[in-house]
Amino acid sequence: MSGPGKSHGRLAATPSRRPRDLMPERPRLAGAWTARVITLFPEAFPGTLGLSLTGRALEQGHWTLETIDLREFGEGRHRNVDDTPAGGGAGMVLRADVMGRALDAAAAGTPGSRAKWPVIYLSPRGRRLDQAMVRRFAGCAGITLICGRFEGLDERVIEHYGVEEVSLGDFVLTGGEIAAQALIDATVRLIPRVLGNQASTQEESFSTGLLEHPQYTKPAVWKGRAIPDILLSGHHAKINDWRREEAERLTRERRPDLWRAYRAAHGGDPDGDQEL
Ligand code: SAH
Repeated sequence: MSGPGKSHGRLAATPSRRPRDLMPERPRLAGAWTARVITLFPEAFPGTLGLSLTGRALEQGHWTLETIDLREFGEGRHRNVDDTPAGGGAGMVLRADVMGRALDAAAAGTPGSRAKWPVIYLSPRGRRLDQAMVRRFAGCAGITLICGRFEGLDERVIEHYGVEEVSLGDFVLTGGEIAAQALIDATVRLIPRVLGNQASTQEESFSTGLLEHPQYTKPAVWKGRAIPDILLSGHHAKINDWRREEAERLTRERRPDLWRAYRAAHGGDPDGDQEL
């Protein structure tokens, strides 16, 4: 494998059980941010992460993606990874011992500190993913992601490994793979040189605490709808004022929670809805 080369426990002695680098032929830049994904479906990766800006940055080695196939850590001839829930009930639960072995393999060559290398379980019970969390992940050396399936993961493995639970939102997916890709996409685009234009991450939704202003492009008139005159005026200061006002209006109308936080942070009355 081309990931961190340190052997870790007896399981890592089997090359196929080590993290699989999804782009082994591309250059590896020293210290590139790394996502290690434990999944029953490694073929789901890189998925959309292989496209466009994230895909190009992956090829250029600005970040690294490795998958760990949970099945390879399974029990017995059939490599079982799940069993029925203790106490009864529907569905199957991923076994703590199987996931524990996968996590041990995933830890090879990573800093032990969870602050430098978080271990995350994508889970509807987790804290809701937001831009502040994504910024924290981007500032780490890398992350390990656990994609659940079925009814989820044995609680003991979450406790034992200091696993952080992160949710995509208040709905239930079939598995953690789509959530993992969403988290990785949002994180990777904050890594320097992944987006061509760094300024775009500074102005977009959430980075200022506001939703983004409306965007327009050619044609100037479409189906009788014109682009707001101010945007074609060439007055940069006025354009900036218009954009800020629109961002504030949209945030106030759509996201009272964000609006209150923004008002409080800017010294306004958090419950007021007047312009600043
Ligand atoms: N029984 C669990 C849901 C399991 S869904 C419960 O009620 O909490 C199967 C897997 O899909 C989960 O283990 C998790 O990895 C993933 N998943 C489902 N919904 C998710 C969400 N909103 N955010 C992140 N991951 C999710």
